[in-house]
Amino acid sequence: DAVKPSNFLRQIIESDLAHHVHANRHWGGTPGDAAHHAAGPLDPAPVRLRFPPEPNGYLHIGHAKSICLNFGLARDYGGVCHMRFDDTNPEKEDLEYVESILDAVQWLGFHWDSEYQGQKTAHLYQASDYFGFMYRAAEYLIEAGHAYVDEQSADEMRANRGDFSKPGVNSPFRDRSPAENLARFRAMRDGQLPDGAAVLRAKIDMAAPNINLRDPAIYRIKHAEHHHTGNTWCIYPMYTFAHPIEDALENITHSICTLEFEDQRPFYDWLMERLIEGGLLASPPPKQYEFSRLNLTYVITSKRKLAQLVNEGHVQGWDDPRMPTIVGLRRRGYSPEALQLFCERIGVTKDYSWIDYSTLEGALRDDLDSKAARAMAVLDPVKLVITNWDELMGAGTLDTCGAPVHPHHPELGRRSFQFGKELWIERGDYEDVPPKGYHRLYPGNKVRLKYGHVIECQGAVRDANGQITEVQALLVPDTKSGTPGADAIKVKGVITWVGAADGVAAEVRLYDRLFSEAQPDAGGKDFLASLNPNSLSTVTAYVEPALASCAAGAQFQFERHGYFVADRLDHQPGQPVFNRAVGLKDSWGK
Ligand code: ATP
Ligand code: MG
Ligand code: MG
Repeated sequence: DAVKPSNFLRQIIESDLAHHVHANRHWGGTPGDAAHHAAGPLDPAPVRLRFPPEPNGYLHIGHAKSICLNFGLARDYGGVCHMRFDDTNPEKEDLEYVESILDAVQWLGFHWDSEYQGQKTAHLYQASDYFGFMYRAAEYLIEAGHAYVDEQSADEMRANRGDFSKPGVNSPFRDRSPAENLARFRAMRDGQLPDGAAVLRAKIDMAAPNINLRDPAIYRIKHAEHHHTGNTWCIYPMYTFAHPIEDALENITHSICTLEFEDQRPFYDWLMERLIEGGLLASPPPKQYEFSRLNLTYVITSKRKLAQLVNEGHVQGWDDPRMPTIVGLRRRGYSPEALQLFCERIGVTKDYSWIDYSTLEGALRDDLDSKAARAMAVLDPVKLVITNWDELMGAGTLDTCGAPVHPHHPELGRRSFQFGKELWIERGDYEDVPPKGYHRLYPGNKVRLKYGHVIECQGAVRDANGQITEVQALLVPDTKSGTPGADAIKVKGVITWVGAADGVAAEVRLYDRLFSEAQPDAGGKDFLASLNPNSLSTVTAYVEPALASCAAGAQFQFERHGYFVADRLDHQPGQPVFNRAVGLKDSWGK
């Protein structure tokens, strides 16, 4: 195996490990009781990372980057990675999303359960399990004079926050006593105030140049049922308050997030310091590190916009094969290994950049090339009739032809199919008058039908509209592939085909990019305006007989055409449905 290229996160972890920065973390004990915690054994995991999605949508290719990064670092440094639901926002969350997220992470090849010497060291976590602790932490901040209940209106709060050019203005509620704040906070908790009537704010500095430190809101009122805690709470912690606490309670060492959160880091550290001071959390605290999010050309990676595509019917669902969701990519024919390879290749930096879509497709081709069984399929079929078949071979006879399942893996065996008087070929493999450099069928030209015989084209029959109804050719005797002397006649063209006798009709879905612009939503552009109206075309193709009975999800290289997958949901024995995952060559520039 090649040595993994280093990156700034690996360097940080390696340096931390060398300097034992996170070595003194105790494990077990009561979460949120620092003294009790410190009495527990040392954490056997040298590093702890986490993947913390909010269960408010389906995971997409950007999340795959974060999953591969966090689970991959844990694996490479002998640590663990927590699967955690950041489920602090009840209104947008749903169990449907919870299940789909777990499914996606597992499918990508990662596991959240870890054991060390027979003891569980990591499992599935959910932030809502810590609501009790978060509430206590908030009361502590109030008692210590670090938080206050603000009852300004949302508009007043916004106006008084100031902006980059001017400092904020202190709230008239800022100097309430801890006792008064505590009473108001409990009134919030007890449901005495309606949504929006008050928020709990950290008391930091309304003139801080970093606006995130201008007394950020840490708790708000939401009379909403939570998919996990039901109606236990009518106040919910804000993400910026909840997230550092989740990390600390789980003994996370390196809390890796995307660069949008860089400006939140000072608050993350502020909160850790306050709660360690108060004896609620143990030292050393986790540290936040940021990397640049994945931007992929022709792709949108915003859950909100992806939801819009689904809800407005621009695609057929979250798992539409044109969607950059993990379920969509899976259905399109992507393998977990291809997505892992992609994430490895793009690496991790702090630079703003766009990854070319061809990088994703290249990873799929590179993964499938050595794995996918080969098959012949005719996507735009026209009949080919061998006019001397009856005379040479006998009316009604068929001739069995064979080919390797995979050209480089003889151990995978061989496949067979029938050559006969009538065959299906690609409409584009015939021309009355050949363009320059065209070596396929035209009157008088000889080509090889791959794994079959050499034929000599006679011409084509047309209907009243000029549409070709059949191409006609003569079989050239003694040219069958794999027989002695088969190569005596040299031909420049080799074409693929499927026998009319044993070929099976299949629905084939040909996908193209969903957007016609490389950066569909950059700069606030209306991404719907660049939806590609031709992102899906469905054809009736003919495929090799063996494909009719393949398993849903099976991947193939259709020779000359690309990689295809039997649709996970719609493919059935006797009713084959294939999706084109990717063409054989990079065609983005076409
Ligand atoms: P979205 O913006 O699509 O709603 P999000 O960031 O709100 O995504 P979360 O569920 O909060 O989604 O994300 C879980 C993790 O995935 C976070 O750590 C986040 O940083 C990471 N992540 C999300 N989008 C990307 C991306 N495009 N590239 C890399 N990591 C991402
Ligand atoms: Mg989020
Ligand atoms: Mg987001």
